Amino acid sequence: MTDYTKEELAAFLETIPYKALAKELARRNSERRKVKSGGRPKVLRPCPKCHKQLGARELARHKC
Ligand SMILES: [Zn+2]
Repeated sequence: MTDYTKEELAAFLETIPYKALAKELARRNSERRKVKSGGRPKVLRPCPKCHKQLGARELARHKC
């Protein structure tokens, strides 16, 4: 399984579409970013009453 020659390996890598590779790299990069910033990026929604921008959890807890 692992005894490919460099040429065979290069030929194999060339069969992977660049887009799939870029997509995978982007996914990994965004994952790394999310971890650094502490999990899921917040989606802010305005409070229907006071229109303050709040995250989903904050909005659920929020009373005004
Ligand atoms: Zn409010």
